[in-house]
Amino acid sequence: MSGNIKRRGLMLVVSSPSGAGKTTIARALLERDPGVILSVSATTRPKRPGETDGRDYIFVAPRIFEELAATGQFLEHAKVFGHRYGTPAAPVETALEAGRDVLFDIDWQGTQQLAEKARDDLVRVFILPPSTEELERRLKGRARDPDEVVRERMAKAADEMSHWAEYDYVIVNRDLEASLSQVAAVLAAERLKRERQIGLSDFVEGLRGGA
Ligand code: 5GP
Repeated sequence: MSGNIKRRGLMLVVSSPSGAGKTTIARALLERDPGVILSVSATTRPKRPGETDGRDYIFVAPRIFEELAATGQFLEHAKVFGHRYGTPAAPVETALEAGRDVLFDIDWQGTQQLAEKARDDLVRVFILPPSTEELERRLKGRARDPDEVVRERMAKAADEMSHWAEYDYVIVNRDLEASLSQVAAVLAAERLKRERQIGLSDFVEGLRGGA
């Protein structure tokens, strides 16, 4: 017997309040680990400068979003900051079956829905900012959102952070490299979980047969 042991991919959810560094961590992880793909959400929010349709989000009109939701094409969907966001189901199942891991940059509402639907495939990581001051500095530093949006996000951050206890792992993002290593460590351990290595019994059979 040769080759890799067949495995089922996992769903890695990374949530945090806006400004805690989640998007930076997610992008870096995707660059470094070819076994991980990003779940690209559909959203009704307008495209920001620098964003690409189909890469950052699938930008859709509210009517289309409703149609996708009504026909059961989302694994989860929620309203965040007045806009609708949803995770298309089909690409996720294809990736998991092919043994690839899927990274989700979604909020606590979506995470709760995934936990109800796919608890066994799910690994939940919550990223906290090191302090309120740092969170505010990072939100202001972005300069791409109007002041009103920044204020709203500061207020919402407190609410989002109240959900930390619903996650399996919690990382305080003091330093990007350190946080990234911590997420990578979680991923490495979760990949070794026996239940995800669905080819193990065949592999061990082969080992015993060859003994
Ligand atoms: P933004 O508009 O700044 O890209 O994202 C706003 C918030 O929506 C973030 O907290 C992000 O994690 C969340 N979000 C993005 N896509 C989805 C999704 O498909 N489902 C859910 N529930 N939340 C999402």
